[in-house]
Amino acid sequence: MKKIAILGSTGSIGTQTLEVVREQKDIEVVALACGSNVSLLEKQIREFHPRAVALWKEEDARELKQRISDLQVEVYHGMEGLITISTMEGYDTLVTAIVGMLGLRPTVAAIQSGKHIALANKETLVTAGHIIMPLAKAHQVSILPVDSEHSAIFQSIHGERQNKISKILLTASGGPFRGKKRSELSNIQVEDALKHPNWAMGRKITIDSSTMVNKGLEVMEAKWLFEVELPQIQVVVHPQSVIHSGVEFVDGAVIAQLGTPDMRLPIQYALYYPDRKPLSGKPLDLFEIANLTFEKPDLDTFKGLALAYTAMEKGGNIPTIYNAANEAAVARFLNREIAYLEIPEIIEAAMSEVAFVANPSLDEVLQTEQATYDFIDRRWERHL
Ligand code: NDP
Repeated sequence: MKKIAILGSTGSIGTQTLEVVREQKDIEVVALACGSNVSLLEKQIREFHPRAVALWKEEDARELKQRISDLQVEVYHGMEGLITISTMEGYDTLVTAIVGMLGLRPTVAAIQSGKHIALANKETLVTAGHIIMPLAKAHQVSILPVDSEHSAIFQSIHGERQNKISKILLTASGGPFRGKKRSELSNIQVEDALKHPNWAMGRKITIDSSTMVNKGLEVMEAKWLFEVELPQIQVVVHPQSVIHSGVEFVDGAVIAQLGTPDMRLPIQYALYYPDRKPLSGKPLDLFEIANLTFEKPDLDTFKGLALAYTAMEKGGNIPTIYNAANEAAVARFLNREIAYLEIPEIIEAAMSEVAFVANPSLDEVLQTEQATYDFIDRRWERHL
């Protein structure tokens, strides 16, 4: 029986992971962690019977303990709690479905204790790919991508490890504002940006998809996961979201993975790799889709994507600044404190103002995150 733990069990990826567990019936959930959703975590505990759980705040942990006093479940809290869950004995794969750089320390700790990582938390690789990938190699653990694009690439190179990739074709739906000019985005409201045409996801990643910052983060994630150079990663706007991404080999052969937009497939593939299991839901019907179209990304409208390439080219802690500035900017946008087009402006300002570190340690990555938040707090305090 497979044994897993999930960080971020109450979120979009976390709940879909538990849907896979519910459907397959041969996975044991050993531990769960979330931020503050006590009610949903309680339901999950009663259904999946984990041995340990964690919440972020101590008072939430206390409330949960009272609610589940009839059960034998260890309840932890804070970063210590996340690390306890990440390193405890008795399971093989940790699903990292937490949002943000918070996932960094628990992921490092899990790798050090020999867990395989089913990685949804792309921020981990974006900011610390130079630490995570060698660490995973040293501890002989797998980093199995959950992101649908990276899973598609992973599936496309299965059995091809020795063959040289000449290009990664990273597809993007283009989000709700595909085809718009920059000037048309000045009055975009939170509700407009939260309307993704094809995927239902958490709020932060949905905004990131609309700005194409999500694609920028995915470019960085792909570079680390598949050990390719930046110019080898081509972003292809493909509005139907049927081709989830692909790979071109040196002989010109292109292998890609196609499917309906359903995150349960990449989650399930990561959990059972290299096996495939049946999955409920509507299969892909190419006759119904009829047309697959492709466009070049508009780097003027979606400046966030262009900035990602700059961040990765500059390297060091700049991808961390890019990511942290985006997190802070998106939080402000969701709070209606800044305009939509200020998101890339804030990222660009932070990338040029926050101090550069060439080869940051884990502590320096986290210090950079804080320095970026501090810079943005100072510069944009008029909006608070
Ligand atoms: P959600 O916002 O839906 O869920 C985030 C999860 O993280 C929730 O369980 C939340 O708990 C938990 N969390 C938040 N803060 C804390 C904290 N301080 N301590 C512990 N847990 C915390 O995000 P998504 O599921 O959409 O995304 C998760 C990650 O997966 C992101 O990195 C995203 O980029 C990536 N991803 C998501 C995809 C998707 O389809 N959604 C696709 C590919 C990648 P609570 O509910 O209690 O707040």
